[in-house]
Amino acid sequence: MHVVMIGGSDAGTSAALRTRELHPAADVTVVLDDAYPNFSICGIPYYLSGEVADWRNLAHRTLTDLEAAGMRLRLDTTARRIDVPGRKLLVTTPDGGEELLGYDKLVIGTGAVPIRPPIAGLAGPGALGSDDGVHLLHSMSSTFAVMRTLEQAAPASAVIVGGGYIGLEMADALTVRGLVVTQMEQLPEVLPTVDPELGALVHAELAGHGADVLTGTTVRAISKAPPGGSGRLEVHAAATDGSTVTRTADMVLVVVGVRPETTLAADAGCALGVSGAIAVDRGMRTGLPDVFAAGDCVITHHRLLSVTYLPLGTTAHKQGRVAGENVLGRNREFAGSLGTQVVKIFDQAAARTGLRDHEARAAGFDPVSVEAQADDHKAYYPGSHRITMRVTGDRTTGRLLGLQLFGHKDAEIAKRIDIAATAIFHGMTVDAVSDLDLSYTPPLGSPWDAVQAGAQAWVRAAQQH
Ligand SMILES: Cc1cc2nc3c(=O)[nH]c(=O)nc-3n(C[C@H](O)[C@H](O)[C@H](O)COP(=O)(O)OP(=O)(O)OC[C@H]3O[C@@H](n4cnc5c(N)ncnc54)[C@H](O)[C@@H]3O)c2cc1C
Repeated sequence: MHVVMIGGSDAGTSAALRTRELHPAADVTVVLDDAYPNFSICGIPYYLSGEVADWRNLAHRTLTDLEAAGMRLRLDTTARRIDVPGRKLLVTTPDGGEELLGYDKLVIGTGAVPIRPPIAGLAGPGALGSDDGVHLLHSMSSTFAVMRTLEQAAPASAVIVGGGYIGLEMADALTVRGLVVTQMEQLPEVLPTVDPELGALVHAELAGHGADVLTGTTVRAISKAPPGGSGRLEVHAAATDGSTVTRTADMVLVVVGVRPETTLAADAGCALGVSGAIAVDRGMRTGLPDVFAAGDCVITHHRLLSVTYLPLGTTAHKQGRVAGENVLGRNREFAGSLGTQVVKIFDQAAARTGLRDHEARAAGFDPVSVEAQADDHKAYYPGSHRITMRVTGDRTTGRLLGLQLFGHKDAEIAKRIDIAATAIFHGMTVDAVSDLDLSYTPPLGSPWDAVQAGAQAWVRAAQQH
């Protein structure tokens, strides 16, 4: 049996590894259009900051490790067309030639591409690009382009367009590198995946580290600055009150989200769903015979919503694993996402899992949301930090629907959000979170963990509603 994976990132590699693990005799080929299989693109900001010294260290596994797992890797090879009835894949080889690869099962893991917003100067004739210090960021090659700008042009300042988690990580990274950063976000607050109250805390952390954070600011144009000024680029934006905002900088990073890369799949006849992503069932089947898909290119089955589009590395790994199993005729199902995510911004971290109040209401729940605070460990032991929480539960059933956290990066924010993710995954009530037998020693926790303190605050508030 010959299984072909298109895309050598989280989804494609996870699928290939799982197939080989379950069926060591399977003939597995991974086709990828660059030379960086299984790279942790989530680690890009930390390479660009200089905290990870060598880009090679971003590889989850080396080429040698992957080959030792028994897969064949076709680097710098682009999949062009899928012949579904003939079970063949047309590829362009590194020398520019064409080749037909036969397959018995195919896994599409083409991922996502960065959104290029309608900003004058970003597209069309004379568009500014990486040689001018204007960058989009997603792949290793775009990372190398940013690094070239950083090393060769030695920029003193940067404008980051976008205040989502990648934009924030890059604000942190470029500040660590010594650049003066301006962050422009069109929405009223940064990190719009959490409630504005927590976004405001993130905003303060950015400002506290010298970033100029302009929210409610929509970038309209990027152009070359006149010579002799303080930067080589000009960024023109509109504020919510209609006024014009202009900033100069030596480089501009545009990170405003991604869209699924589905051209190949759509041309082959795959149905598309939410956000234009490939429609798959929980077994990662596309509906076309012997064609599976996983990762950022597919819709996301969600445990509290039906389907949505939530492109995340954790999800891509799980979906890839399911696809890698099901190509062998098994019947594994992706259990569903909760959109659990965490981001470090300088010395703080913000995290969320499940639904926020308005999302829960839109999904037909009867949400109550409560803000609470608790210490990460007993305050009498040095170094304790306050954690701010927003707990969302269903008034009618008492079910925990969502949790958002903000606190110091040493306050175990990531693992604490995972407590809530586990509770929501298993349909627990908010009240039952207090029954969980969690660990305690004063330097590391409290008899009631911070998440349990938040749950108890929610129960008290819900009783008053
Ligand atoms: C800077 C950054 C930070 C991130 N941080 C986090 C994080 O902290 N946590 C988290 O959960 N997620 C994070 N993510 C998101 C995460 O990286 C993605 O969700 C994940 O990489 C998706 O994996 P994928 O395999 O589906 O797609 P991708 O990683 O997009 O890979 C798809 C691959 O397929 C290749 N390809 C596409 N078309 C073809 C073709 N026709 N032929 C051959 N090859 C093709 C592409 O070149 C690409 O290498 C981050 C992303 C970025 C960019």
